[in-house]
Amino acid sequence: MTKRAYNFNAGPAALPLEVLQQAQEEFVDYKGAGMSLMEMSHRSKLFEGVNDEAEQLLRELLQIPDSYSVMLLQGGASTQFAMVPLNFLQQGLVGAYVNSGSWAKKAIKEAKLIGETAIAATSEGSRFTRMPSLEEIVLPDNAAYLHLTSNETIEGTQLPFFPDTGEVPLIADMSSDIMSRPLDMSRFGMIYAGAQKNLGPSGATIVIARNDLIAGSPAALPTMFRYDTHAKSKSLYNTPPSFAVYMIGLVLKWLKGKGGLAAVEQTNRDKAALIYDAIDQSGGFYSGVADTGSRSLMNITFRLQSDELDKEFVRQSEAEGFVGLKGHRDVGGLRASAYNAVPLESCKALAEFMTEFQRKNG
Ligand code: PMP
Repeated sequence: MTKRAYNFNAGPAALPLEVLQQAQEEFVDYKGAGMSLMEMSHRSKLFEGVNDEAEQLLRELLQIPDSYSVMLLQGGASTQFAMVPLNFLQQGLVGAYVNSGSWAKKAIKEAKLIGETAIAATSEGSRFTRMPSLEEIVLPDNAAYLHLTSNETIEGTQLPFFPDTGEVPLIADMSSDIMSRPLDMSRFGMIYAGAQKNLGPSGATIVIARNDLIAGSPAALPTMFRYDTHAKSKSLYNTPPSFAVYMIGLVLKWLKGKGGLAAVEQTNRDKAALIYDAIDQSGGFYSGVADTGSRSLMNITFRLQSDELDKEFVRQSEAEGFVGLKGHRDVGGLRASAYNAVPLESCKALAEFMTEFQRKNG
């Protein structure tokens, strides 16, 4: 049997074993073509089929209305931090941002290079241990859009609900929780996500945007930075990250086979509950970093009473086959990323390890 680590990496992250095995089977000779998918023209019928299927599955699973375009781009979510204001932040308008943590800050930094910005709400005063509440959000009069980060990967906070922004397009960086729960796409002008956490390997970025929004990009914006370029060409304007797109298609099929997003959300809740329960029932031996109302189902952040004990936890966990539990270097502590493809068994094993570690060191 294949040896699999208990993989809690924050991204690139765990992929479903079944998906990896199928990719392995098809790796050298894709569908009898006598070559790997990676060796194939992106203009070939076979790759077009792969590309279309990935888009169709995204549309089906997220129930994306026809008035939206689905794009598979390169450059990671970080490139979207710039593309959003480049395309939508016209002169005289203000890019409104929810400042919820490390990733929101990076998005804001890029927008500031391009145009005028406003902080619509911030939880910096609480050291980003919570998401700003919807009531705190104040939109400027001439907002081009409201940008938020649905899940802060580093701090381990997640928005349980989304604000109603009326006419102002709502744009969300969903890099670390896309497709972890059902979504009402019609409430968003655009969402985007790097694939490497919940959707596949690194190398592709999913962008889903309303057609009327992307029709209005400035005329002087270079071709590759325009959403309409990629939307019109079905993400085949230039050479796409073809293998990543193929892998995303396999992951989406796997997700569909699991019963779709409602079923996946329930499993994610069960998984996260195992670890949060181990924290909450430890009598203070472990403490959660995020406020309970903002806890992420994807990135579970916690710490012990000292940095030394955190280090010892990481050391012993690695010896037991756990990977990726060290917190992000900016915030320290511990973090378990339990994305869609992390099996319930890994979370059970971690909860048991936490209890045992407490028994030995508490
Ligand atoms: N936003 C969020 C919420 C993230 O977690 C990350 C990556 N960890 C990024 C943006 C940046 O993504 P990329 O590395 O694909 O540019």
